[in-house]
Amino acid sequence: MLRIAIDGPGGAGKSTLAKALAKKLGMIYVDTGALYRTVGLFVDRNNVDPKDEDAVTEIIRDLEVKIAYENGNQIIYMNSEKITDEIRTPKMSMYASAVSAIPSVRSFLLDTQRKIAATENVIMDGRDIGTVILPDAEVKIFLTADPKERARRRYEELIEKGKNVTYESVLEEMNTRDTNDSQRKIAPCVPADDAVMFDNTGLTLEMSVERVIEIIGNKIQLLSK
Ligand code: C5P
Repeated sequence: MLRIAIDGPGGAGKSTLAKALAKKLGMIYVDTGALYRTVGLFVDRNNVDPKDEDAVTEIIRDLEVKIAYENGNQIIYMNSEKITDEIRTPKMSMYASAVSAIPSVRSFLLDTQRKIAATENVIMDGRDIGTVILPDAEVKIFLTADPKERARRRYEELIEKGKNVTYESVLEEMNTRDTNDSQRKIAPCVPADDAVMFDNTGLTLEMSVERVIEIIGNKIQLLSK
């Protein structure tokens, strides 16, 4: 089994990099942020405050989240509803960040993530993959980039999708999420002790893919010794 964990803050380029790597290496890409976003969407649909731990814990008893693959793309099912673009909004980013600090939400999503990695070679991106979900992953990368560049990437992504946002609002939302995600008590977004740190500021996707292939190669060589 080969399990590659890519953790890091929002906008660091995890999903773009992980998707390109998965294609190149013939592995499955698992976007774990989408799971937390789906819980956020469910909470919103039920008019629950995403920071209300008791109410969120209660409402997710009625929720089943499943990951499926269609033409190599990850799809999430929220109960029987197929979820795609509706979780990709600034509001759902904030809802995901809020519910992800609740222990019952994290334990609710734990098995879904571990089960996929038990049966497939995966490249999984998130915040706690190398530290909590797959502590024995063969390769762990902590991906970062300059905050202004991360906000610019996220801004361009949202504009491309036709969302009405300003760069300043995206930067502010990103800073708030960075603080929430890295300082929360449970599964904070921090590098695992054995993660390779990779700052991709100013690098093209091709350059980043090349560098990560090199990191994977070195790690596998070490493991086979
Ligand atoms: O990666 P993405 O921006 O889609 O993640 C949305 C939010 O979900 C993050 O800000 C974080 O709070 C939460 N998350 C998490 N653990 C993960 C993946 C995402 O707490 N493994």
